[in-house]
Amino acid sequence: MGMWKGLDCISRDNLGQIQGIRLRETVKYAYENVPFYRHKMGEAGIVPEDIATLEDIIKLPFTTKEDMRSNYPYGMFAASMEEIIRLHASTGTTGRPVVMGYTRRDLENWSEQVARICMMAGVKTSDIVQISFGYGLFTGGFGLHYGLEKLGATVVPFSSGNTERQLTLMRDFQTNVLVSTPSFALYMAEVAETLGLEPAGYGLRLGLFGGEPCSDLMRQEIEKKWGMKATLNYGLTEIVGPGVSGECECRSGMHICEDHFFPEIIDPESGQKLPPGEEGEIVFTSLTKEGVPVLRYRTRDITALLPEECPCGRTTQRMDYITGRTDDMLIVRGVNVFPSQVEEILGQVKEVSPHYRLVVHREKDYIKDMEVHVELTPEGFTDSFPEIQKIEDKITSRLKTVLSLNLKVRLMEPKSLERSTGKAQRIVENEEAVAE
Ligand SMILES: [Zn+2]
Repeated sequence: MGMWKGLDCISRDNLGQIQGIRLRETVKYAYENVPFYRHKMGEAGIVPEDIATLEDIIKLPFTTKEDMRSNYPYGMFAASMEEIIRLHASTGTTGRPVVMGYTRRDLENWSEQVARICMMAGVKTSDIVQISFGYGLFTGGFGLHYGLEKLGATVVPFSSGNTERQLTLMRDFQTNVLVSTPSFALYMAEVAETLGLEPAGYGLRLGLFGGEPCSDLMRQEIEKKWGMKATLNYGLTEIVGPGVSGECECRSGMHICEDHFFPEIIDPESGQKLPPGEEGEIVFTSLTKEGVPVLRYRTRDITALLPEECPCGRTTQRMDYITGRTDDMLIVRGVNVFPSQVEEILGQVKEVSPHYRLVVHREKDYIKDMEVHVELTPEGFTDSFPEIQKIEDKITSRLKTVLSLNLKVRLMEPKSLERSTGKAQRIVENEEAVAE
């Protein structure tokens, strides 16, 4: 285990040397084994030898989700099926899924990355960890599973759903660490409460949350209800799955496994690389992958690299929390809105909970209007119309100040919005209203 912490504490010079060697190898390997990359580099007028240093990476073309989809299922694979021993895939709710193939060495590296992330979060070998991520093609369940086993914790591979039974076994097995989406952790707490049980009585001490962005409000709510420390981690199927980055005990951004994944921040409009500390789209290049090497993958996630040293002593760079996704961005009457901005504003209003929906009214291709539906907390609940009006007005005026948009706010009864056992569905299309 000490060895992994060692990798996160390596000097920046040594790390840069390792990254340089691995980048050159990866580019050459991708060029020789993936026609897609050979073709793209040919179009850009470059050969692998042009990438001699880490700075040269900007010469490489980007890879997008569309590129991966149009090469479905195996067009991005560099290794043969002889060498591939596992497949995973993204959900593909908005098109063809992205398929990932892993060689034996890829799976060993992935377990090591996840083990490092879990150790950073504070998981110990004596912990009993319930994994409530779905097992299957989704990378979350198996990714955390093998990483936690590698670390030496006791894994309870529950998978998602079946909430009451999750709670029963959590109590019976004396589970003290939970792995899930933040939405599911909140949902489980509500189910426990409806059963007349106090979530804080379950004895969870630590949560590892990923699979969707988690606002400060959600994190506080989870910590308050379960009486646990909630940590966040980050990853995506197109790169590897979970294990790309995670929080240390300082909880100020997520340390990237930089010996495996090289990060850049770019301006999502121009594609230009941005200086350290500036917010933009995060782009990753894999440095050790054999099955599906990835060159400059555009994640569409908006964040920044934090240039300051972390007090924990790790030298790996941290990325800030995801403030939005470029494909989540809504353009309402010409104004760019990220759901996370609305969530942050709601987080400042004590009468409402983290459960909300953005109901979008479209006309042809553009968004004519958007309503914010948000649940009152049980404590904030009231039947009084003037009271409700007052809270709605307060939220409307804050939204207007921050977003320069006049949006209708509708307060909902506690627990009236549909709950998710996976990622929360924040944006709802309302075609009926358009027809009105
Ligand atoms: Zn740290």
